[in-house]
Amino acid sequence: MNENNSHQLFKTAQEIIPGGVNSPVRAFGAVGGTPRVIERAQGAYLWDIDNRRYIDYVGSWGPMILGHGNPKVLLALQNQLTKGVSFGAPTELEVQLAQTLCDKLPFMEMVRLVSSGTEAVMSAIRAARGFTGRNKIIKFAGCYHGHSDGLLVAAGSGAATLGVPNSAGVTPSQVADTFVANFNDFDGTRKLIQKLNADLAAVIVEPLAGNMGLVEPQSGFLEMLRDETQKSGALLIFDEVMSGFRVSAGGYQQICGVTPDMVTLGKIIGGGLPVGAYGGRRAIMEQIAPSGPVYQAGTLSGNPLAVTAGLTTLNQLDDALYKRLENLGQRLETGLRKILEEKQIPAQLHRVGSMWTLFFTENPVTDYASAAKSDTERFGKYFHAMLERGIYLPPSQFESAFISAVHTDADIDETIQAASEVVSSL
Ligand code: PMP
Repeated sequence: MNENNSHQLFKTAQEIIPGGVNSPVRAFGAVGGTPRVIERAQGAYLWDIDNRRYIDYVGSWGPMILGHGNPKVLLALQNQLTKGVSFGAPTELEVQLAQTLCDKLPFMEMVRLVSSGTEAVMSAIRAARGFTGRNKIIKFAGCYHGHSDGLLVAAGSGAATLGVPNSAGVTPSQVADTFVANFNDFDGTRKLIQKLNADLAAVIVEPLAGNMGLVEPQSGFLEMLRDETQKSGALLIFDEVMSGFRVSAGGYQQICGVTPDMVTLGKIIGGGLPVGAYGGRRAIMEQIAPSGPVYQAGTLSGNPLAVTAGLTTLNQLDDALYKRLENLGQRLETGLRKILEEKQIPAQLHRVGSMWTLFFTENPVTDYASAAKSDTERFGKYFHAMLERGIYLPPSQFESAFISAVHTDADIDETIQAASEVVSSL
């Protein structure tokens, strides 16, 4: 093993996998440099193929709330492995997971399991259109809902702007029914909902936005969405693929007190294996095939191995765990704020429970436009200097970092110490 194994392997990967990665942000495009090739993970740590250890704040982009290699999850997976990995027929496990999800999100009367967040959202939108008999949807600039065609719409186009594709290969007609509003823009969003009115099938929002960096909804914003969608007869869909079970046992909807018509889930509900889900009121979900006319299917949906990891993860999420995550988050926040103040760094630190983002901007961040004003060059320097010190952060200013329940106070203190050394040199 020499120092450059990650470098060498990534070179090979780039020749046979587009950009060398199977999901774009892994390529370090926003921060430059070569991604670390990971060999193994345990608890709060990752090891790359050069045997360097990192404190992990990516957590596989959210799912690993219990840390890597949780003993109960591993044991359950081993047991399931001996019984079979996929049957393509109903299992008791999938009923248990569906029941667990409906118990945790009481408004949800029925749920359908799929294999990714993208699939969950794409299917929820189809269900909303089928249920309402309407076509148009509203999404928010800077919110990400997976890579289905109709949701790949340019960020920052402003309220009431007709969607424009931001990906090659997406045709204008595929996004013609997608309208973009600005997160936390009360007036613009209200006007857009009222304008689309009887043509509007759904408003989809990350109730706690994590895909422009972490941005909280302002007080009353989600309530306004609830009121206006109700008035227009459109559905309100909370995309909780990231926030679901990350900040509370009942999803972000428990914290904000606003009840959507539908919810989409992913990440944590698969415990690191591929599971997504969408659900809602019975009348809506009964539209899904085979009970209703909205078609949606999947060879590996409700896969027993994936469902086992999800179920065993969800069963460990109790109040004590969220309290622990809050304490760890609080410790990190206090430490980082002290440094930012002492060193006079213009930055915004956002944190909700175990989710956090440090924006390098002196202005408040409330939406995509304000997040986009961040100094991404500075972020890149910070990211690499932290990585050099063994701290593995998401490689983009516009992502949320995650703390797991097995991070220790010592891990947090090591991170604060690294940040203290790093910010002086930015
Ligand atoms: N919705 C949200 C809110 C997400 O954060 C993501 C993924 N980061 C998705 C949907 C898409 O999920 P997946 O990557 O599993 O397709």
